[in-house]
Amino acid sequence: MNDTDFEGMPGLTEDQLSEINDCFTHYLFYRRIKANTVGIAGTNSKKEVSECVCSRCGSEYILERGLIHNIQTTCTKCGCKVTAKHRSYGKKKLYEAVRVLLICPENENRVWLRAFWCTKTYQTEQGENLTPKITPKIRKAEEARYLLEPRKKARHWRWNYKGGKFIWCEQKNPQEPFHSYMGYGGEYYLLSQSRLSDTFLRYIDFRSWYAEYQEYYNCYLSHLYYSVLNVPDTRYMCEFAQYPIFESLIKAGFGELVAGKIAERRVLSTYLNWEADKLSDFFKSFDKEEVKWLHDQSYQYMSIKEYALFKRVYGKKDIERYQSDKETFGMCFTELLQLIRRYKLRYTHSLNYLIAQYDKYRPTDMIKIRNDWSMLNIWTDYLRFAKELGYDMKNEIITHPKELMQAHDKAAKTVAAIQRKQAEEKAKVVNAENKKKYAFEYAGLRIVIPTCPDDIIREGEKLHHCVGGYSDRHFSGKLTILFIRKITNPDKPYVTMEVRGKKIVQVHGYRNDINKPLPKSVKLFVEEFKKYIEQPVKYKKELEKEKARKTA
Ligand SMILES: [Zn+2]
Repeated sequence: MNDTDFEGMPGLTEDQLSEINDCFTHYLFYRRIKANTVGIAGTNSKKEVSECVCSRCGSEYILERGLIHNIQTTCTKCGCKVTAKHRSYGKKKLYEAVRVLLICPENENRVWLRAFWCTKTYQTEQGENLTPKITPKIRKAEEARYLLEPRKKARHWRWNYKGGKFIWCEQKNPQEPFHSYMGYGGEYYLLSQSRLSDTFLRYIDFRSWYAEYQEYYNCYLSHLYYSVLNVPDTRYMCEFAQYPIFESLIKAGFGELVAGKIAERRVLSTYLNWEADKLSDFFKSFDKEEVKWLHDQSYQYMSIKEYALFKRVYGKKDIERYQSDKETFGMCFTELLQLIRRYKLRYTHSLNYLIAQYDKYRPTDMIKIRNDWSMLNIWTDYLRFAKELGYDMKNEIITHPKELMQAHDKAAKTVAAIQRKQAEEKAKVVNAENKKKYAFEYAGLRIVIPTCPDDIIREGEKLHHCVGGYSDRHFSGKLTILFIRKITNPDKPYVTMEVRGKKIVQVHGYRNDINKPLPKSVKLFVEEFKKYIEQPVKYKKELEKEKARKTA
């Protein structure tokens, strides 16, 4: 942050402070007292009245009647709805916190937003007269600041702890001022909206924005876990300032695109030009008729993407054709289009082919709706296998086999056989490497290297631990399982070790050593083995020296 960043940012006015105050619940604190009243005949009598203080306007006055705790009433001074609270009742529960965002224009083309976390508490210290503390000052903590300027990316600062102190930290992209998570909304009051009328944001229409956002939420977001309808007003204002096209989009019935951009940062820059001034420049690849059609779609984002893909593989514009094919294939139409694009298939031929394959395997009365995934999935798998097997993907006898099911099963078998063969080859290499790297003996114990999956499974069964599950990763070389066995009995499972490269990851014996710790001899062996795998050349040299000394 630069010191000059906030030059020109207006302070809060009295009006804004009372706007904040109005976000809180208001109370009329009272105490019933006997007051002298003078009767018509000049007689003195005592009557019960209420001595009041209003938490909203701060006025203190006498009400000529007795109030009752917790009733709803109206402050006679400011006319505001208030809840009556007897002064002697505990006020701890009246603590309240609100979050507010204030609009603070500096001039027509510089609009600041300031976010505060505000609290109010009515607790009084013991023995103190209630009145002065009953209308407390609001405590305000400023959390975020924004600067909005025409056609510019909005700037956003957050009050953050950095380098040992709190400072204003500028954010990369403008975010909402308050976090929302796990079902708690980040909502806040948006105050001083009328101040926008003298600025470049005067045409911002919050009411339509709420409606658009709500609809988008219902369509795309309401099914998500922990989802709450929480309208991101701040980001809307930031982007409204940056992209003047928002106004036209909402007016012309494309609010879903605006809501999607704000809610999920859906930009679709291939098809949409957010910098555009006019709607005609906004849709990059759609003509007037197509824009009109899009306007009537209830899922505009999806329609843009799918229709654009359709045009690409079909080769030309044809809304009618798209509509009718979309009706036939329903939800799986996008997948089908992607398949056609990926393998450069012929459009009409492929659609007819898929329908014919459906008809072959489905009873005729069930084929009315073809938005079932299974046949398309089978074709997708088949084409992937065919490509893996190096078949000629330009040949339609290959890409559109007469009997898709049989062709799929055959290709799947071939691919599986090849993969098995590859796995075996890989295992051979891994076994040879392990032998070279890990063969080791020391003090009556030795390393035994598993050479087939059964070896590892048997080890796990005999020692009652979970090493069996490591088999695939061992034979593909991702990790290494080694058996520590007694030299005198090398076939009997004893202790198992997992190694990754030069690192020993775990060492376990019977039932993961729950009942009995590993013997000392095993621990010494592992220590020695560790020295060996870390520096095998040095280790072997020293072993030679040792031998030479002994024989000398
Ligand atoms: Zn009042």
